Amino acid sequence: MQISESKRLFAHAKNFIPGGVNSPVRAFRAVGGEPLFIKKADGAFLYDEDGNAFIELINSWGPMILGHNHPMIREAVIKAMENGTSFGAPTAKEVEIAELITKMVPSVEKVRMVNSGTEATMSAIRVARGFTGRDKFIKMEGHYHGHGDSFLISAGSGAITMGNPDSPGVTVGTAKDTLLAPYNSLEAIEKLVEANKGEIAALILEPVPGNMGLALPNPGYLEGLREICTREGIVLIFDEVMTGFRLAPGGAQELFGVTPDMTTLGKIIGGGMPVGAYGGKKEIMEFVSPAGPVYQAGTLSGNPIAMAAGLTMLRFLNENPQTYAELNLIGRKISEGIAKINHDLNLNYTVNHLGSMYSLFFTSNPVIDFESAKTSNTVLFGKYFQAMLKRGIYLAPSQFESLFLSTALTEDLIQKILGAHKESMVEIHS
Ligand code: PMP
Repeated sequence: MQISESKRLFAHAKNFIPGGVNSPVRAFRAVGGEPLFIKKADGAFLYDEDGNAFIELINSWGPMILGHNHPMIREAVIKAMENGTSFGAPTAKEVEIAELITKMVPSVEKVRMVNSGTEATMSAIRVARGFTGRDKFIKMEGHYHGHGDSFLISAGSGAITMGNPDSPGVTVGTAKDTLLAPYNSLEAIEKLVEANKGEIAALILEPVPGNMGLALPNPGYLEGLREICTREGIVLIFDEVMTGFRLAPGGAQELFGVTPDMTTLGKIIGGGMPVGAYGGKKEIMEFVSPAGPVYQAGTLSGNPIAMAAGLTMLRFLNENPQTYAELNLIGRKISEGIAKINHDLNLNYTVNHLGSMYSLFFTSNPVIDFESAKTSNTVLFGKYFQAMLKRGIYLAPSQFESLFLSTALTEDLIQKILGAHKESMVEIHS
């Protein structure tokens, strides 16, 4: 594989961009080697600046549920562009997408569009604090909610990948209001609630975390959180930036039948454009300015191009629920195929899978929380990543990420992925 142009660009980029990238995990630090610079993407494929093609299993970290450069989304964007790129004023499309989101996502009665998942979670916490008049909130170890100051405490995803889950620049004053709990332990939540009686505004979590690699909620866990939050007047926030519109039309909350008070969304609602959103119960969302006193704003929020892409995507998913059966089948074939190959090779590694998300952990321990995820052999993961890349398969460049599959993965491509997996596992264990 020739990667001279990517190498040249990376060296040049480092002169002008910190670390040469605009988001840390992209630098490939955790997997060795240097990042590929991507020129274009189409369907299930990424193409780099050297002309290499890769079957890709990240899909821009989630949003490309139908594969890259989907003609339907492309046409919607081009059509919207003909009317101008930004107005900073209300539009018909943002009303339509808001209405559709409230129809699809069980917890959302009112919704505010923002520009990223980070903005969505920062805003949701502010609103929950304003609504309850309390300062503290609970977050789970290893869950990632973007790079807002108060979330960069035991954060997953890039933060753990880069080895700095607690970032300099986050003040002690900010950090003290973030209470940490291990995922999947109701007992830990009860203890925190008891020790901070009447002081906790919100409990935020990824209902199905993808940012410490994929883990699943224990039976009864989400229901238990719901009960505690209702009892204690704590705003339960599901961060469905990854799982929203992916695990089901209404996200993890629909799949597990547990309705939070607020939900944060992103990625898929932009169809690949920079979009996030937060929403929830009417009485909470009525606290948001200008309806209420909690300030939150954005010049580019509800951007007409982004709304056109997102609305097209959501309409399609809403009108074609069989997409989820398709996605789930692809997810099952790949994750079960990987587990079977591992078993046949006498390799005992954990594969977590739900719908079109999966993670292969280089540990034999069940992965149910951050502690168990961290028992993975990250050096071996790095070797696996490079072995797969060499065979034309582009994975998330970190052990602590989920993979996101798209409907563009045909049977032929699935077999290629499994073939590459087998060869890679043999190579890295020989
Ligand atoms: N929440 C979750 C669950 C995420 O996975 C992410 C990003 N991967 C975010 C929030 C932050 O979103 P963004 O990168 O768009 O700011």
